[in-house]
Amino acid sequence: MTVDRYNREINYLRVSITDRCNLRCDYCMPKEGLSLIGHDDILRYEEILRIVRVAVSAGVSKVRITGGEPLVRRGVVEFIQSLTSTEGLRDISLTTNGTLLEMYAEKLFAAGIKRINISLDSLNAGKYARITRGGDLNAVLRGIDAVYRIGYSPIKINVVAIKGFNDDEILDFAKLSLDKPYQIRFIELMNLGSADLDHANQYLSNSTVREIINRHYRLEFINAKTRKTDGPAEIYKISAAQGAIGFISPVSHQFCRTCNRLRLTADGHLRVCLLSDEEVDLKGPLRDGCSDAELRDLMERAVAKKPMHHELYCDEGQRKKCMKGMSSIGG
Ligand code: SAM
Ligand code: SF4
Repeated sequence: MTVDRYNREINYLRVSITDRCNLRCDYCMPKEGLSLIGHDDILRYEEILRIVRVAVSAGVSKVRITGGEPLVRRGVVEFIQSLTSTEGLRDISLTTNGTLLEMYAEKLFAAGIKRINISLDSLNAGKYARITRGGDLNAVLRGIDAVYRIGYSPIKINVVAIKGFNDDEILDFAKLSLDKPYQIRFIELMNLGSADLDHANQYLSNSTVREIINRHYRLEFINAKTRKTDGPAEIYKISAAQGAIGFISPVSHQFCRTCNRLRLTADGHLRVCLLSDEEVDLKGPLRDGCSDAELRDLMERAVAKKPMHHELYCDEGQRKKCMKGMSSIGG
């Protein structure tokens, strides 16, 4: 299964362990939230562990735990502990909104998470509360301090760049990379059908973000991809900074040519592309007693369906929306 029909090596699985979230970021979901997957339809931890084991036997070496908000699911620490004993799995990371991180940072580290991504779109408490519809900025900042103190590495801070909202904070975010080894990653806003956004007016391209930083600091290009399992960020550095600045540009620059990932949704489907609603059901066959070989065969079928590219072209306008929300897909 490792290589798809466009010769891309598929070695990275993003696992959404829940579609629930304690925030309601307005670019991710509507304020009333999204209709939630029923309890029985969410994969049980043992089921996820089995899927990961089979995926690893088929060539996956890197897993990222995400959601919804992964830290709201009960038993997440014990689950991660079990995941780390999966033979052949070399890299396990977590994406979180950081609101519960202070409480979990030590336990997650002991369980085996060393690499962490924290989403943070404003450094202003009022604006943060506004975009997340009620989130507490200080809780996230305490979480970031905690992972730094404990020694997580790398620590990546994901910032969705939004015109009229945080374009005046781009420099403040970039400066966070000066004294601490944080990688600040600017992500272009994607037009998701589930969210409350006015994409045409809120979208800010990463070339504009880079320009804003370049007016004050010289950015040195570090690299695009060093390891086969690396993501699509282009990495830069302000000279003498301890950390780095990454740009993830799904709208203005397609990185589909090097896409190496599959996504396991919280309800047990393998999604072949973040921005296509094409999925392969694993939960049904799993609960009907399929063998590992059959499961692997289904994974291979999903890989075979991976499209050459997504359809969020900027230059042709925002042609298509993906109808499922990031919280249920596992962004
Ligand atoms: N709740 C966790 C968090 O916020 O980090 C994990 C799941 S969240 C869906 C994963 C990432 O998707 C976050 O960094 C979030 O900012 C990003 N995201 C959600 N909606 C997006 C959109 N419309 N465009 C770009 N990124 C988006
Ligand atoms: Fe929740 Fe993450 Fe979506 Fe924000 S981006 S609503 S924190 S799942």
